[in-house]
Amino acid sequence: MPPDRLLAGWTQLSVRRLIGLGLLCAGLVHAATTTRPNIVFIMTDDHAAHAISAYGSKINQTPHLDQLAAEGIRFNRCFVGNSICTPSRASILTGKYSHKNGVPTFNPFNGAQPHIGKYLQQSGYHTGIVGKWHLGTEPTGFDEYSVLPGQGAYHNPMFLERQGRRTIPGYATDIITDMAMDFVRNRPADKPFFLCLHHKAPHREWSPDAKHATLYDDRDIPEPATLRDDYSTRTDAAREATMTVARHLNRRDLKLPPPGGLTEAETNRWYGTVPMEVTTTVNGQEVTLKDEALLRWKYQRYIKDYLRCIASVDDNVGRFLTFLDVQGLRENTVVVYTSDQGFFLGDHGWYDKRFMYEECLRMPLIVRWPAAIRPGQVTEAMAQNIDFAPTFMEIAGLKVPGDMQGRSLVPWLRGQHPRNWRTAVYYRYYHDPGHHNTRAHYGIRTETHKLIHFWKVDQWECYDLTKDPAELHNIYGDPTQARVVARLKQQLVRLKRDVQDHDEFSVTLPKDNVDSLSFVPAIP
Ligand code: CA
Repeated sequence: MPPDRLLAGWTQLSVRRLIGLGLLCAGLVHAATTTRPNIVFIMTDDHAAHAISAYGSKINQTPHLDQLAAEGIRFNRCFVGNSICTPSRASILTGKYSHKNGVPTFNPFNGAQPHIGKYLQQSGYHTGIVGKWHLGTEPTGFDEYSVLPGQGAYHNPMFLERQGRRTIPGYATDIITDMAMDFVRNRPADKPFFLCLHHKAPHREWSPDAKHATLYDDRDIPEPATLRDDYSTRTDAAREATMTVARHLNRRDLKLPPPGGLTEAETNRWYGTVPMEVTTTVNGQEVTLKDEALLRWKYQRYIKDYLRCIASVDDNVGRFLTFLDVQGLRENTVVVYTSDQGFFLGDHGWYDKRFMYEECLRMPLIVRWPAAIRPGQVTEAMAQNIDFAPTFMEIAGLKVPGDMQGRSLVPWLRGQHPRNWRTAVYYRYYHDPGHHNTRAHYGIRTETHKLIHFWKVDQWECYDLTKDPAELHNIYGDPTQARVVARLKQQLVRLKRDVQDHDEFSVTLPKDNVDSLSFVPAIP
């Protein structure tokens, strides 16, 4: 049996017991732990799959992510259970839905609960997290951490570490990559490592570095087909959401220069307001843009900065992959690339996320593991963010804990097609009202359809994804679709019960408070 499979099937508890009983000689422990694969888990913040060329992006090129996909496997259908930063991160760590891990909104993560960092650490992995954390409490289960407070800063960011606070000059994406390299260089030689390399980029306010500041200056980025969506056939929620490119991007988002003579407070207020006309220079002429011309300008302004942030991420992924090669770590290191959820890139007229629509429900997921994955695979398997922790458990040769709700993706990585794989995913978003006035909803996405219930107002949407992938034609209420809808409703009730979401929508939500200074590191 190959050494990396030696521990497969053993519970971490039984491994620890055996070690404790002295039944494993020191040499065997050493061999087993040093040949288990390393795991580098790269996660960005708000990077939609449709801004990765390996996923068919029409708006940018990401050569290093494409290379990663070409050398590994690309999941075309990976979905988030609750499309928002903090809850997705809690689900990823625990392998559980929001209603099981205590983080339905922006409330602090209880680090006393079991999670993947702890399991891997206890089984002998050297564990670390650098970059975005955004879970509001001090990281547990990580031997080393260097994390941004709350959302963190793009430029000259401050980090919270066990030793205290540290501000580092430079650009966050470069710095976080450098920190990841330091973690690998300084790791204990006798342990495999688990590294969470979590970028802030490309989160709002989409602030690029100097190196990419003028990228795309010479061209227009294609507009999405649904930029001017009028939300006809949809329920009230789409019209009520305050996250349109046209009417909600503020002056800070659009990087407009403030007028002189304002106090700091006045400048901040000015940045926070939405311009409904903008005077700018076009072909050497000063023009004032309004309405349709202003929408076109705002979209370009928004999407170019978003893509510039991604260009830096892509460069740094390339830099890190080269580093792994130089360190001789390519073969037995699993590299995962994902984002905490997708994002609207002008789709349906929006920026941001939260809704159950495809653009932000879908997460990119690329995995490279030369020792086990045949290069160039693409799978349509329905994956979820709750599958990541079980996957890491199996990669590490550990038994997946019974209370994790996700399933290991390792069979898919190995080119197998496991029986009884899921054919539908459950979704639930809790805030209402919250940021961007997005309404609470839950629903089901099957291989072919999506059913969404905005439960507070008892409004429903249903889409046939095979005929209407852009989700523009709500078929709920269409008499010819009544049987389809009735079947989906039954399926949704069953799925809600199966994932043990027994809440009947009367919950009092925890207070949002992870965006302050998160936590004060416990200085020894
Ligand atoms: Ca996010």
